[in-house]
Amino acid sequence: MDYDKIIAEAEREYAAEFARIDSIVLENQKKVLDAFISCRVSARHFAPSTGYGYGDDGRDKLSELFAAVFHTEAALASPHFASGTHTISCALFGILMPGDKVLSLTGRPYDTLASVIYGKGIGSLADFGITFECTALSGGKIDDKAVKKALAANKYDALYIQRSPGYERRKGLSTADIKEAVSLCRQYTEAPIIVDNCYGEFAETLEPSDVGADLVLGSLIKNPGGALAPTGGYAAGKKALIKRIEGRLTAPGIGAEIGSYEHSYRNFYQGLFVAPHTVAQARKGGLLAAAVMEKLGYAVFPPANDPTGDIVRVIDFEDKDKMIRFCQAVQAASPVDAFALPVPWDMPGYEDQVIMAAGTFVQGSSIELSADAPVRPPYSLYLQGGITYEHTKIALARCLRAFCEQ
Ligand SMILES: *Cc1c(COP(=O)(O)O)cnc(C)c1O
Repeated sequence: MDYDKIIAEAEREYAAEFARIDSIVLENQKKVLDAFISCRVSARHFAPSTGYGYGDDGRDKLSELFAAVFHTEAALASPHFASGTHTISCALFGILMPGDKVLSLTGRPYDTLASVIYGKGIGSLADFGITFECTALSGGKIDDKAVKKALAANKYDALYIQRSPGYERRKGLSTADIKEAVSLCRQYTEAPIIVDNCYGEFAETLEPSDVGADLVLGSLIKNPGGALAPTGGYAAGKKALIKRIEGRLTAPGIGAEIGSYEHSYRNFYQGLFVAPHTVAQARKGGLLAAAVMEKLGYAVFPPANDPTGDIVRVIDFEDKDKMIRFCQAVQAASPVDAFALPVPWDMPGYEDQVIMAAGTFVQGSSIELSADAPVRPPYSLYLQGGITYEHTKIALARCLRAFCEQ
């Protein structure tokens, strides 16, 4: 089979969608550039600090910059958030008080938050007497009826929305969806609306904070780190909420006055600057993979013609060996550890064996090209990221050769 021809066909067929993604980059790049200009970012902000980090202007400026990009009163962007989950955990523990009640409008939150919210005897929100109720999605959308019913019957102290599907097979919410949800909630309550924005940043020209969300949260080893930030997370939103999160990240009363970083902050700044472009590279790679695999007869979710597609595509191989060979070919076409052969293994916490290809520069970075799958029918592979579109294109051609021609 002529894979290069199939790839070229897919590119032609989806030319309009590729162009649409590019037009989003232009808007977002302007927004980010203007934030850098208005914040008067200077080379001195990249300088490291030690100890308490008193007077660390690079640390403070980075947060100011995130507030400017997300159009919020305040922000806290820090290398001391160890992951997206840690960021969301800090935010929830910072804002909520014992006895508080939260409503999630998007069903049960992302897998890694289960222990944070419902864990028993480990200092979870539940252990502090904080309850988390959920209304399930209906047809992949927020269920307005169920939300109205819950809001009419209860007093909630916060509302929670997860923008990206995570490992659920649903579409990501658009900012238009979030805007509708915000206005629905506002008919009943002024409680803060918190959005898990992981994977959503720069996918559209607006962010949830532009359409009424009070707080957005995310990881810097995903979209807004531009594949350059080595670690970290961010929170952007209302000043009073950010103050509470600062107090939880360090200590109440101390907040963002301290915190040092003995490496240059440059990668956090440069990562945010290139993030709109990097996100588009990953989305275009995902679009190409979806289009090509569909041409070869495989089901892909979200399908190639779905414009809400974020940076994750699920390919159903329906064949264990093909899925494994494809995954191994992703690793073999990676810039780091290409010589390693991923094999299915018994990963703690999972019922089925799991296989993972992740030849990434930053460990576990899912804005970089990677693939993982639980080994069970329909043998679905989660393909994500890709720092350059060209890399994904080359890797895709090699994967096709590897799994079609044994
Ligand atoms: C990645 C992700 C998180 C946070 O996960 P970490 O691996 O802890 O960074 C939270 N929510 C969603 C929807 C995510 O995709």
